[in-house]
Amino acid sequence: MGNRSAREIWEATLGALQVQVSKPNYRTWLEKTTGLNYENEEFVVSVPNTFIAEYLEKNQRSLIEKTLIDIVSSPDISVTFRVCGKLGNDSGRRRVNQKYRGDGQLSAVMFKENYVFESFVVGKSNRLAFSAAQAIAENPGLSYNPLFIYGGAGLGKTHLLHAIGQVALARNMAVLCVSAEQFTNEFVTALRERKTEEFRSKYRNLGMLLIDDIHFISGKEQTEESFFHTFNELHNANRQIVLTSDQPPRAMSFIQERLRSRFEWGLTVAIQPPAYETRLAILQSKAEQRGLETTPEVLEFIAEQIKQNIRELEGSLNRVIAYAQLFHSVPTVELAAEALLDLGSREKTTPAITPGLVLEAVGESFQMAPGDLTGAKRDKATALARRVAMYVLRQETSLSVAQIGEVLGGRDASAVTNAGKKVTAELGDNRFLSRKIQDIQKIINFKSTPSRR
Ligand code: ADP
Ligand code: MG
Repeated sequence: MGNRSAREIWEATLGALQVQVSKPNYRTWLEKTTGLNYENEEFVVSVPNTFIAEYLEKNQRSLIEKTLIDIVSSPDISVTFRVCGKLGNDSGRRRVNQKYRGDGQLSAVMFKENYVFESFVVGKSNRLAFSAAQAIAENPGLSYNPLFIYGGAGLGKTHLLHAIGQVALARNMAVLCVSAEQFTNEFVTALRERKTEEFRSKYRNLGMLLIDDIHFISGKEQTEESFFHTFNELHNANRQIVLTSDQPPRAMSFIQERLRSRFEWGLTVAIQPPAYETRLAILQSKAEQRGLETTPEVLEFIAEQIKQNIRELEGSLNRVIAYAQLFHSVPTVELAAEALLDLGSREKTTPAITPGLVLEAVGESFQMAPGDLTGAKRDKATALARRVAMYVLRQETSLSVAQIGEVLGGRDASAVTNAGKKVTAELGDNRFLSRKIQDIQKIINFKSTPSRR
């Protein structure tokens, strides 16, 4: 069996696991895994780091194997977790393009292969954004510059951005697509290593620059400033710029006020949540692409349930399919209702993971009062516990780094970012630390799940 089917089997398995383990558990340990290979009854799962590999090996191997056995109907299957580094989590789905341009500079661009115009379902809610994106892909630098696409989470902004990029790439354009977070990190590194000139020239020489989630840079003074210059240089040279954001420029707050007017120079388009018909069309298209067995009634049912987010719409479809496979049944509306209800009701009964809960768990594990974590103490042990708290808060909550800084007694966002990096770097070979975090994880899971399975 080839790689493609390993990936699909694993996606179905993940769908089934999602309804069996708690949400934080799923997010921490399973979400970033991929099916790599399935041969001779050995199923290889790619995981992002050794820490996760060890945890799964120790704690969830039997559940995973049991679920896999149900899905592939083969009683002898055994699972192996393989660490595949940074790209491993979805290397199967992403295509990394590395091209040397004339000046010998390496431009690495990463696109999701299936984020193309052909797979984008157009409806009233996204028609304008879609047309503008296509116009730009056809005539970069000539129609609207910049193109600014905004809308809520999971509505297709990144999809359109990659679609533009892949057309440009096919035409051998020097295109770069980065998230604003990557841009910021790269800039900060360049500052630290005194390589800002290289940084500038890398961006200045592009034919097209695609920046995802630009709102991330708002409030970061130096990054805003650097982006302002990059923007001007590219724009003056008629190089196409496309930006996405969760808000329109007018609603964003910048330290560099002039950024806002720059963003409004071109065309600003919104993507709205899709209407029922579009949701249904998206589900039909996904089911068809993946050759899934469903009925119109099941798709209609899902389209009625999930209204605000296309990523969740897809997730629900996967869940229903996985549920059906688990019960060796064809998907029916009753089964779909059960699959989605199960998740919905768990979301209602499981209290959200609050910052207070995380601090409590970290404090418990390090035997300190939560007040020590938020306080002024700077001894080694407290500093370590605080870093771990920052790391876990990033993993377990949707707080921004700035908010996490606040929670920990008004610390800098950059301190939170650095703590995260430091802990991640140490996890690979510091068993004490990885065990600590597993501990904390367990405490959190225990405290946030009222009824243990
Ligand atoms: P955003 O960046 O706005 O948060 P994404 O672009 O990541 O959202 O989209 C979330 C998921 O929904 C992706 O898998 C994407 O392919 C899918 N999606 C979004 N809009 C559409 C659409 N109009 N047609 C098909 N799939 C879509
Ligand atoms: Mg996105």
